[in-house]
Order: sequence, then structure tokens, then C-alpha cells
Amino acid sequence: MIVRRGEMRASKVMQERVIKTPNIKIFWHSETDEILGEKKVEAVRIKNNQTNQTQDIPVSAFFVAIGHEPNSLIFKDWLDMDEAGYIKTIPGTSKTNVEGVFAAGDVQDKIYRQAVTAAGSGCMAALDAERYLSAKGL
Ligand SMILES: Cc1cc2nc3c(=O)[nH]c(=O)nc-3n(C[C@H](O)[C@H](O)[C@H](O)COP(=O)(O)OP(=O)(O)OC[C@H]3O[C@@H](n4cnc5c(N)ncnc54)[C@H](O)[C@@H]3O)c2cc1C
Repeated sequence: MIVRRGEMRASKVMQERVIKTPNIKIFWHSETDEILGEKKVEAVRIKNNQTNQTQDIPVSAFFVAIGHEPNSLIFKDWLDMDEAGYIKTIPGTSKTNVEGVFAAGDVQDKIYRQAVTAAGSGCMAALDAERYLSAKGL
């Protein structure tokens, strides 16, 4: 695991699980310079951002998880969003500023961003959409 800073942002319990897992090695203060390999991933070149030293770590796969950016740009001309790009919904509903358009999941939730909350808000959006259509006699 490559971590840019000398600490993680994850919850304490998750940090402890990672730190205590014997087959996870953490590279603190490190950034990815390059993914190496001819036809498939063979190694990753990382750089320590304090010493500028680089090293190649042999790996067969590489997973990126850096920050959160809601993929909402395509709706920016129509839907109200906050400064970070999260779609605004009327609290307690999935309704957006556009009638008949409902938002659910991480794209409208900057606080919890969990599978279960996304599924719950997906259910709310489905019900809101169904009621919207029924009210129109559709
Ligand atoms: C590394 C990691 C670990 C996680 N661990 C947990 C966990 O342990 N427990 C938990 O509850 N949650 C966890 N989560 C969070 C959970 O995955 C999310 O909260 C959940 O997937 C959000 O669901 P969603 O449907 O809102 O969005 P997503 O699952 O992101 O689905 C959005 C979908 O929209 C598609 N899409 C995007 N743009 C377009 C477009 N323009 N056109 C068509 N399709 C598009 C995407 O390809 C994607 O399939 C984790 C997330 C990450 C990244």
C-alpha cells in the first residue's frame, strides 16, 4: 500500500486492520511514479516524497484509490450541485431541482458514501420516480 502522507485518513479500525495484516506492506510518504511492465503489470516505481528516492516494487496488479470526485460533470448545466460537484437533493427525498429527475447514491452523498446508504437512496429514488409517474397517470 502506497500512502502519500505519514498517516491515513481511513477510520481507525480500518487502519489497524491494514497495519496488523502481515502480508500488507505500507510505503509511507510515497507516490507512484510509473507502472512498469511490457504486456502486463510487473512492477511499480514509487518515489519517497521526503527523500526523493525511487524504488521498484514487483507487483502483478495495481489498484488506485485516491480521493473522491463525483462523476456528475455531464449534469452540471441542468442539476444544482455543491462546490465539490455533489448533486443537491431536497433533504429527505431524492428529488433534484429538475422535476422528474432523481439522484441517488454517492453522487449525491458526500457524508456516508457507503454501499448500503447508496442502495437505500436508490430505493428512495425508485419510489420517488414511481410516484412521480403515477401522479402523472403514466
Ligand atoms: C475501495 C473502496 C472500498 C469500499 N468499501 C466499502 C465497504 O466496505 N462498505 C460499503 O458499504 N461501501 C464501501 N465502498 C463504497 C461503495 O462502493 C459506494 O458507496 C457504492 O458503490 C456507491 O454506489 P453508487 O451506485 O452510488 O455508485 P457506483 O457504485 O460508483 O456506481 C456508479 C456507476 O455509474 C457508472 N457511470 C459513471 N458515469 C457514467 C456515465 N456518464 N454514463 C453511464 N454510467 C456511468 C459507473 O461506471 C458506475 O458503474 C467502498 C468504495 C471504495 C472505492
